[in-house]
Amino acid sequence: MLEFTEISCPYCGETQSIDVDTSAGDQSYWQDCQVCCCPILCDLVIDNRGAYQLLTRRDDD
Ligand SMILES: [Zn+2]
Repeated sequence: MLEFTEISCPYCGETQSIDVDTSAGDQSYWQDCQVCCCPILCDLVIDNRGAYQLLTRRDDD
């Protein structure tokens, strides 16, 4: 299932909405910032009740 969520870019700080696929389970993937085009590392964590959390990190953290 696709959900829309808001993240703020760890590079430029701009907030943007992205879609996440919560049916695929935990996953990590790159998402280019829509503003500065830097690669944001997204960690999607889904708990056993189906609630999800999206963590964003910089490449160099
Ligand atoms: Zn950015």
